[in-house]
Amino acid sequence: MDIIRVGSQASQQASPDNFTGNARVDGRFAGSGGLSAGTVTFEPGARTDWHTHPLGQTLLVVSGFGRVQRDGGPVEEVRAGDIVFFEPNERHWHGAAPDCAMSHVAIAEKLDGAAVTWMEKVSDVDYSS
Ligand code: MN
Repeated sequence: MDIIRVGSQASQQASPDNFTGNARVDGRFAGSGGLSAGTVTFEPGARTDWHTHPLGQTLLVVSGFGRVQRDGGPVEEVRAGDIVFFEPNERHWHGAAPDCAMSHVAIAEKLDGAAVTWMEKVSDVDYSS
């Protein structure tokens, strides 16, 4: 058994290279077999850039109210308690609602050492559509 104690890792600011607005990452952990996970908290209006995960991704929305979109689909609203799955290599983004923060646990597995491929920014038009 192992316990990673809360506060033992400093909160990390999500990189502006890959996010719009302010987001932070807490509670990062990795498992054997390439599991990669952490809790991401987005301030209102903040979101990831467009991206893919080589082996897909699961999001557990743990607080607030946010938005997710897969390429070619509508912007979907998600709330605390919702669980979102993205298929391997499905282009998508996730973030907060315009006026409400959102926090999710993000779980993905690495392939050849990478769990994500970053792409372009999510435009205000796409975010608001
Ligand atoms: Mn993702």
